[in-house]
Amino acid sequence: MSERDPAILIADLVADIRHHDHRYYVLDDPELPDADYDDLRRRLLVLEEAHPHLVTADSPSRRIGAPPSELFASVVHRERMFSLDNAESPAEVAEWLARAERHLDRPPGDLVCELKIDGVAVSLTYEHGLLTRGATRGDGATGEDITANVRTIASVPLRLLGDPPAYMEVRGEVYLPLDEFDRLNARQAEAGDRLYANARNAAAGSVRQKDPAVTASRNLAIWVYQVGYLEGGPALATHFETMEWLRGLGLRVHPGTETVTDVTDVTGYVERVRAARNDLPYQTDGVVIKVNGLAEQAELGSTARAPRWAIAYKFPAEERVTRLRGIEINIGRTGAATPFAVLEPVFVGGANVERATLHNEDEVHRKDVRVGDQVVVRRAGDVIPEVVGPIPSRRTGEEKKWSMPSNCPFCEAPIVRPDDEKVARCTRGLTCPSRLREWLFHFAARGAMDIEGMGYKTVDLLLSEGLIAGPADIFFLQPDDLLGFEGWGEISVTNLMDAIEAARDRPIGRLLVSFGIRHVGGTVARLLAREFGSIEALRLADEETLAAIEGIGPVIAKSVAEWFEDEDNRNLVERLEEAEVRLSDPDWGQGPEKTLQGVRLVLTGSLESMTRAEARVAVEERGGKLVSSVSKVTTALVAGASPGSKLAKAKSLGVDVIDEARFRSLLAHGPGVLDEDVAANN
Ligand code: NAD
Repeated sequence: MSERDPAILIADLVADIRHHDHRYYVLDDPELPDADYDDLRRRLLVLEEAHPHLVTADSPSRRIGAPPSELFASVVHRERMFSLDNAESPAEVAEWLARAERHLDRPPGDLVCELKIDGVAVSLTYEHGLLTRGATRGDGATGEDITANVRTIASVPLRLLGDPPAYMEVRGEVYLPLDEFDRLNARQAEAGDRLYANARNAAAGSVRQKDPAVTASRNLAIWVYQVGYLEGGPALATHFETMEWLRGLGLRVHPGTETVTDVTDVTGYVERVRAARNDLPYQTDGVVIKVNGLAEQAELGSTARAPRWAIAYKFPAEERVTRLRGIEINIGRTGAATPFAVLEPVFVGGANVERATLHNEDEVHRKDVRVGDQVVVRRAGDVIPEVVGPIPSRRTGEEKKWSMPSNCPFCEAPIVRPDDEKVARCTRGLTCPSRLREWLFHFAARGAMDIEGMGYKTVDLLLSEGLIAGPADIFFLQPDDLLGFEGWGEISVTNLMDAIEAARDRPIGRLLVSFGIRHVGGTVARLLAREFGSIEALRLADEETLAAIEGIGPVIAKSVAEWFEDEDNRNLVERLEEAEVRLSDPDWGQGPEKTLQGVRLVLTGSLESMTRAEARVAVEERGGKLVSSVSKVTTALVAGASPGSKLAKAKSLGVDVIDEARFRSLLAHGPGVLDEDVAANN
């Protein structure tokens, strides 16, 4: 038989899927991202469709979940619990609707959209209003009895409100809120126990504990999404109505459930959830779309695995498997050597990814990532892609362990890691080409000298053409130096020259940020600038004087003093002076009037005209305080774009809420502005 014999391919796939089902459903410890697991299933389905005689009765394509484990007593569900079919595009939702219409011989009517919560399915049995059983889905027909565990979940009512039916099985998703998940993994790490890969697995692991006290400590929660079986309830016509009825009985029903009429509405709902999903306090992996009419649902019925009246619209995968081709290092502006993964390109989180961070040397060893490994890559939202870990069961024995190179790949100087530090560093100093390049980029970045047009591309050109050898050289550039290079015409050169000219006059706090002194970010830099008023005065201050300033302390003081002791740095300051870069703040010592004394503000969301740190300095300079949480003594909440939960808190406490424009006028004119607000609102 050849390798491509479909019988062998099917047998291999079945064995592989069983292995992953066991890890996922039984051990709550999957190795593969869901998208890669789903690929295996899809491949099996295609092969089975082409070779129906090779389909076995126990093929995973015919099954739901996994049989209940022997750790718990079994429970037979009165009505089967199902999986869901998937759609990945509006066209697939439309196809599903067309199938439903064909089946019914009429349009299926209204639809309901709900969040697909990524947790673990449970069935709750209520008899005359009392919770008598909690069970897992198991293989759909028989689940595991987890009553004692379910009883510890605060949002599962032990007794229903109002007029409960004689007998009811309701289905819901038990999940672990993300902050609880972080807390759990932190505790696991501290105790040296295994970490959960994600909140879903942690929820599944937590609900299937032998000791209910452990389940209780995990702070699980539930959203209820369906009635499974009902005796003696009211006459209900739609799914939406059913959800309202369940809510009235005291069950926790998600408030985001909406009725819609067509695929365009569905797409709108999906887009809204997708945009908001990374800000939700729990994990969702898609949207479930259901036919609203219960009569239509009953008529549509189910296949062996899933109801025909519902479909799950899954979001694009944020984790995928690919091969780790190599590990290389970057040398940052402080000399820190950061390993990163060079990957076989993979489409994940909506982009092609070829590189991913590995954070630091210890992480590579802790995760035991080896060159040649199949690795899981994660890219969620705008976060930098990272390597989650290897898939050890896919190793061939050819993989190679990695260690930090002993020499810098850019300048060959030794790379050294002091015993008490996490980070290894290139020892050459700023003449290491990688460090210099990163520093120049940082020097010109927003928040520092803010030279528009001076990104990596320009920095690379200037360095490779020998036009600059350090930051001060930027201010000696002439238009002719650049004119004629590809992409550099009159306009772009003039723009860059104007941007450099403007940078000559930045406040010295920005200049201090651009120096890249360790521990000196925007807030500390502004503090130093305010305290000393000039680079010269700061250079003359000794470590002790610096350390005595509130908000500075010995670590920053040492770092600043050391920076000014370095000869290269002193030369830099001299060259900047020669270049007529501003080295003192003309209005130093004046400071704004202390108009905000006694004012306590809280900021939520982001402001357009300033960073959070800048807002803090602006408030503090005026004698006010910017604190992190809203309370009754808060003067006002400043709500920027995409405000968080503080907004609701402020409203509930009756604290004034002001927008960015009012905040700026508060800074300019003092707290009288707030009274005007109140007067205007009354
Ligand atoms: P599913 O998770 O895709 O969909 C069905 C489930 O969705 C229901 O059982 C229910 O628990 C849940 N759900 C959440 N919100 C809901 C709502 N509002 N209405 C209805 N149901 C809702 O299917 P499944 O059969 O539970 O499991 C398959 C999933 O498990 C796939 O995503 C698959 O990738 C994953 N899996 C992964 C591995 C692995 O190794 N990574 C192994 C096995 C299974």
